[in-house]
Amino acid sequence: MKVLVPVKRVLDYNVKPRVKADGTGVDLANVKMSMNPFDEIAVEEAIRLKDKGVTEIVAVSIGEQKSQETLRTALAMGADRAILVVSDEKVEPLGVAKLLKAIVEAEKPDLVILGKQAIDDDNNQTGQMLAGLLGVGQATFASKVDLTADSVTVTREVDGGSETEKLSLPAIITTDLRLNEPRYASLPNIMKAKSKPLDQKTPADYGVDVTPRLTTLKVVEPPKRTAGVKVADVDELVAKLKALGVAK
Ligand code: AMP
Repeated sequence: MKVLVPVKRVLDYNVKPRVKADGTGVDLANVKMSMNPFDEIAVEEAIRLKDKGVTEIVAVSIGEQKSQETLRTALAMGADRAILVVSDEKVEPLGVAKLLKAIVEAEKPDLVILGKQAIDDDNNQTGQMLAGLLGVGQATFASKVDLTADSVTVTREVDGGSETEKLSLPAIITTDLRLNEPRYASLPNIMKAKSKPLDQKTPADYGVDVTPRLTTLKVVEPPKRTAGVKVADVDELVAKLKALGVAK
């Protein structure tokens, strides 16, 4: 059984984003970049499914040459081979989904496990678009995955509880935070990953037009938080809340 795991190179989650002076986007020059955290969870889940009949994990990234590093991390964690679709321009979720569709048609995986969202743009669109384009079932926000030979049972995080769904294969899953805790790659595995296969492609190889459909008009930083007020006791706090109309 084969699993495809799309992984995106994003600004590391510990780095505070700085908006470029001209307001066109986030400044990515000389900042730490890492694998999108939800994609680490996706790679980890694919590796754990090796006990349940998964024989090959293919990691895919769409982005600039430096995304090779992200793919090497996936290979060091335990993916078997990787595909980089090189694009120096940012590819929007629809373009990513179309490329992934073409890769799915070529690779014929039984399962595609994506992150629920990339933390750079917070789109939360790619998995859903891919399922729509392929016409296959999807289970988003997965917190538990059980795989059998011809189906996958996924528990999903929904408002106020969880929902369990059974999907026939092939299927698309997107990961939520509680699905697992991703492993760190060991040094020997980082060394081994250097010799695992990494194919390079372009959008044109798949016949996909990735011209942007969206124009970013303006990016601004969140407003600075104003200083809080210290109160002497609970009575003063309640009085202030009443004055604000927050308490009766
Ligand atoms: P998004 O819809 O942009 O929030 O991304 C959701 C998921 O789609 C991510 O967690 C990745 O698994 C996948 N994805 C999005 N963009 C890319 C990309 N450029 N390369 C590889 N995977 C991607």
